[in-house]
Amino acid sequence: MPIVDEPLPRPRRWGAPELARLTAMVDQDSLFYWQGPQTSALAAEFRRHYPFPHLFATSSGSAALHVAIAALRLRPGDEVIVPPITDMGSVIGILYQQGVPVFADVDPATYNLDTAAVRRVLTARTRAIMVVHLAGNPADTTALATLAREHGVALIEDCAQAWGALHQGRPVGLEADIACYSFNDYKHLSCGDGGIVATARPDIGPTLAPWGDKHYDRTTPGYRDPAELAPNYRMSEPQAAVAAAQLTRLADIAARRHHAGTFLTTLLADLPGVLPPHVAPGNTHSYWFYFLRLDLARLGCTRAAWVEALRTEGAMATAGYIPTPVYRYRVFQNHNFFGGAWPVRDAGLTTMDYRQVHCPHAEAILTDGVVLPLNEAMSDAYLAKVAQAIRTVTARLSR
Ligand SMILES: *Cc1c(COP(=O)(O)O)cnc(C)c1O
Repeated sequence: MPIVDEPLPRPRRWGAPELARLTAMVDQDSLFYWQGPQTSALAAEFRRHYPFPHLFATSSGSAALHVAIAALRLRPGDEVIVPPITDMGSVIGILYQQGVPVFADVDPATYNLDTAAVRRVLTARTRAIMVVHLAGNPADTTALATLAREHGVALIEDCAQAWGALHQGRPVGLEADIACYSFNDYKHLSCGDGGIVATARPDIGPTLAPWGDKHYDRTTPGYRDPAELAPNYRMSEPQAAVAAAQLTRLADIAARRHHAGTFLTTLLADLPGVLPPHVAPGNTHSYWFYFLRLDLARLGCTRAAWVEALRTEGAMATAGYIPTPVYRYRVFQNHNFFGGAWPVRDAGLTTMDYRQVHCPHAEAILTDGVVLPLNEAMSDAYLAKVAQAIRTVTARLSR
């Protein structure tokens, strides 16, 4: 009998609140976002947690991040500093706006952007720092916001993985010039696909909707004469209805996940060879997943062997998160951004060569890291079995 002798708990994600909003929606005569009741409800529910004066609901988190970058009006070749352990969604918008993603290394214990590493890659071409709260663990946005201000660049917070996470007691995103969130199906909250881009800056706020809506400014009569080039990234009413209802569950989901992750870390404390994620004092991790590292030299086994043994004991685990740092992806290694070419480099506006980029901490984390699924349906009893399986497997495989 495996130590974890029950299937992975799965939360029921949708129910009465979603149905109530969708039912109300059916009586509407339009599903268009502009002044739609569901989109308005989504904005109101979002602001109960994240009190931004300006926001725009988008078709995805990647779209929200693209709008954020577009709103900064990069000149071709301008640079945006990003971490190498993230989703492609963080960098897609930068490249489409003819900017240059510049990768800075991460902290080996939190896996989030390291402020000193960011400082080292800042140049006169830097326009923004984009920080990712990886897996729901808040990054040091106090230091990064200070650094951004010092250099007159924007701070963008990619909060896609961090619904409900608190940085020094405040919801993540509030430190940023522009903050982005995702409702894709794997995130804490889902409407299938969706996102939000938000800001407190009065100069940027009114531009968010145009940057996500063909650069139509629907507050003016002659809006079909756009002054800029922008895609259509609008969210529609069905997505907004589900997303608005999902936000009513946020406090509960985040509290349960925070408890589960914290509990698991307690159970794994002092286990030689296994390094739980580090949460900086004062921060609240909302555990989109549980990302630990193995001290492979100490264990004397491979990551694959450890993960296989854990799975045999009934605990779900995967070796690593993304396979390599983002700069190692083929699209970056081949600089194949636009039909086999990279116009900003061909025009001499950057000398970036992604084959020369090296972020040792990120590479190490992705070599010895293990992801354990974590969700709000996991009881303490279930997590105790997972921890027992980890302790048993680690003892058996240690030299
Ligand atoms: C999920 C995710 C995105 C992109 O969100 P989509 O809604 O899937 O487009 C961006 N950044 C990070 C860190 C993510 O995890």
